[in-house]
Amino acid sequence: MKFVAEVLKLSKSAAIRLEERRVLRQALIKHPFFPDLLDAYKLDKKFGEYEEGTLIVKTKDGYDLVRGYPKIRRALTLYPTLIKHFKEGDVVVEEKMNGYNVRIVHFGNNVYAITRRGYICPYTTEKARKLVPFDFFKDNPDLMLCCEAVGEESPFVSKSVYGIKNLDFFVFGVRQRRTNKALPVKIKERLVDEYSLKMSPILDVVDVRMAHEKIIEIVKELGSEGREGVVIKDGEMLKNPIKYTASQSNCSDLSFAFRFFNEYGRNFMFSRIIREGFQSFEFCEDEDELTERCRRLGEAILKPMIDSIKEVSEGKKVVERNRLRFDSLEVFELFKKHVKKMGFEAAFSNPVEEDGSFVVYFDRIMRSTTDKISTHLGGDLW
Ligand code: ATP
Ligand code: MG
Repeated sequence: MKFVAEVLKLSKSAAIRLEERRVLRQALIKHPFFPDLLDAYKLDKKFGEYEEGTLIVKTKDGYDLVRGYPKIRRALTLYPTLIKHFKEGDVVVEEKMNGYNVRIVHFGNNVYAITRRGYICPYTTEKARKLVPFDFFKDNPDLMLCCEAVGEESPFVSKSVYGIKNLDFFVFGVRQRRTNKALPVKIKERLVDEYSLKMSPILDVVDVRMAHEKIIEIVKELGSEGREGVVIKDGEMLKNPIKYTASQSNCSDLSFAFRFFNEYGRNFMFSRIIREGFQSFEFCEDEDELTERCRRLGEAILKPMIDSIKEVSEGKKVVERNRLRFDSLEVFELFKKHVKKMGFEAAFSNPVEEDGSFVVYFDRIMRSTTDKISTHLGGDLW
């Protein structure tokens, strides 16, 4: 705790108070898989200039800090929002890939993968150590690679649209890990190229005055392919990026949210429904397109929820099931502890060896939704 106070420039008692207020939380499971780390704490809420998900570590070499990935605000209508925000000049339109946010860094002699809330994830770290060359960090020790982890074998967001069977990392940002300063898009491209990494596709570079027209086309196309949307950036990365998503992606989020309706916050659902209203308005939809949107939205909300009710009525639990693949059974054991630390209730299948790795089914048990449905099916009033 003393090192946290020192890194955040606080008194020790102020750091202890942060922990009592649950802003600060111990974040390390000690394990030989994390040989460089002696201790770690993370911020569960934004604190001063430090973002939620900021990680503070004690390594064999001293203390260190990895800043949380900042929030990206959303446009509800592209026009005039983009012009109001970016003012003039070109904007870079990147694909917003749909996986989970990972900051890849090094401590000591190893690569580590930190998820959004500031946990060091053993599963993600095992993959990152195979896919990201350590040389990147040898040459750029102060940088972090901000990536979307996507693929089918994902513990948190499994998607098949990207054609990735296992899990892979797509860099969308390169930042100074202590200050969170983002490097310009051009430099990111150069580094990605130099170290043979993968990058979230850059779909267009366009004058901001024309951007809304181009992006409407792009987003319609992405949506029809089951892809999520775009993030619009200033090439120098001096202004904050803005995100915008396809209707199909909003609806796919809503399917999850209503299938597990008691685990998700109401604001998560509400904001996604509001987006649909603004998008329909801006896209100037005709009667048929509007009817199609209404059908899509209604199905997304109702069908998965009804599935959950059916499952509970048959005596089953509501679960989210994902397929995972570990190279090492030790990392699997560590991942089980990790998931518990994250506060998930989970069940795992027995690992089955397949081509030298171990396939496991990971069921996240949605206890709150299961119990809620169960009490109502048993006759309780809302
Ligand atoms: P946020 O607080 O950033 O809004 P969120 O979890 O609600 O967080 P999303 O709605 O998924 O996030 O949108 C932001 C996230 O999109 C980023 O945190 C990042 O993980 C992901 N992302 C995917 N592709 C890109 C990209 N090209 N540029 C920036 N972020 C991207
Ligand atoms: Mg996301």
